[in-house]
Amino acid sequence: MAHSESKELKQADHLIRKGKINEALKIVLELEKRDDISPQELLSIKVLKAKCLYMSGNFLDALKSAADIFQESQKQGDLLASFDALTIQAFAYMMSGSLSQSADIINQAEEIFKIIKQSFTIDLRRRESFFVRIKASIHYFKGEIQRSLELNKKSYELAKEISDKPSMAASLNNIADKYLHLKEYDKAILYAKEAVKIKYEPSLAYPLSTLIQIYINIGNVKDAKVYLDQFRELIKKPDIKGFKYLYRLDQALILKSSMRARDRIKSEDIFKELATDNTIPIEQRYESIINLCDLFLIELRITNDPEIIDEIQPYIQELLNLAESQHLYVILAETYLLQAKLYLLIVDIKKAKRFLTQAQKIAERFEQKELAEKIVNEQSNLINQSDIWEKLKEMGAPMEERIKLAHLNEHIEEIVKYRTMLPAFVTEEKVAIHKEKNICLVCRGEVLRFSYICECGAIYCDNCARALTNLENVCWVCDTPIDYLKPVKPYKEDVEEINLNLKGKK
Ligand SMILES: [Zn+2]
Ligand SMILES: [Zn+2]
Repeated sequence: MAHSESKELKQADHLIRKGKINEALKIVLELEKRDDISPQELLSIKVLKAKCLYMSGNFLDALKSAADIFQESQKQGDLLASFDALTIQAFAYMMSGSLSQSADIINQAEEIFKIIKQSFTIDLRRRESFFVRIKASIHYFKGEIQRSLELNKKSYELAKEISDKPSMAASLNNIADKYLHLKEYDKAILYAKEAVKIKYEPSLAYPLSTLIQIYINIGNVKDAKVYLDQFRELIKKPDIKGFKYLYRLDQALILKSSMRARDRIKSEDIFKELATDNTIPIEQRYESIINLCDLFLIELRITNDPEIIDEIQPYIQELLNLAESQHLYVILAETYLLQAKLYLLIVDIKKAKRFLTQAQKIAERFEQKELAEKIVNEQSNLINQSDIWEKLKEMGAPMEERIKLAHLNEHIEEIVKYRTMLPAFVTEEKVAIHKEKNICLVCRGEVLRFSYICECGAIYCDNCARALTNLENVCWVCDTPIDYLKPVKPYKEDVEEINLNLKGKK
């Protein structure tokens, strides 16, 4: 009979529930080697192994393992193992930032779950709790925070009924995190503290980190430090040291909130280190880079030194690469918007306009209505204020004033506080982008039927080519006219005037 669990397997499962993942993994690896087990038993062993892998943060191995289980389970017609394999894959994909894959797989799992519910009489609550929690996270990444909150609560109730500690702790922390995003700080603190109370060590780092971030957000650095101390103790344990990056991020956030320059420099160093570390999860890298930009802007205001804008560039580039490789188009558009504003500070109107166009086209292409509207707004602001910008440059106005006019502070603050990572989700058909495919230079979308290919090799989708024809009518790479029948309208006036102003000053 399938799913009869051996004594060892039960023991391994018990160890996982107690948070002793490494010990459980050892047993499972031993079991896997034995030659007196049936193919069905081997499948159960492998499921537990994949579970240990994802629970210890080893998502790539968990993915490999789960793919293997899925194939084997299909052969054996083992629906439960198929469902387990899919949920583990969906979770691991989500944790490693591949959101669209995760969503696809969870849909597949949902179909199987319907069949299982009809044909099995076993207790499915543990599986359902995990499944519902992954779904909750997918809604969260789509920007549907309320829906995510409801589902996380459902996941928690299911886990609580069967005293499934790992799942209880995870759902509670997710609930706290959602309340943090909704700025309902009292509730956020309440749920995060409940999650800490469960004391499930393998994932205890999450609620501690959530608490630190809530307290920083409400300006209570004292309490934030209390939890940072607890976090420091926790990562001393060998099983937990994988969470060091999260501890470092929280530490940097606390240092950044300090008024002392020395602390800010320390936090800058940590953010720089995390920003360029490609072994840590994408969300934390993103947060590090955004915080770094924020620090650079503070420095820019104080020192008035425009060279700082150049210093930010490699990090912005990193952010763009990250967003593009992960198909996070909202972040991509937001980052171009940020770029536009940075160039506005040094009154490079041509670049500012181009980055704004790019941000707008990306937002339109990936159907981010709200963002597209926001960018259109910025564009009309820029047109209305271009005289003021030129005057500021002419007068050599301090950066402080320029940052204010660009509303740069608000923009960064928004990104930092609400972590715009969230609504970054795009469905698979919109992200079917591979290297071999043609990508539009402007909107970063796939060029399907109609396109414009410049003699220099730059590719524009039909939509962007038309938009550019009406704007500058030149290729962004080589400056050749796009439509020879139409006049070329480079952002000449702006550039010339600025040059004149500069000469005048000298
Ligand atoms: Zn395009
Ligand atoms: Zn060209």
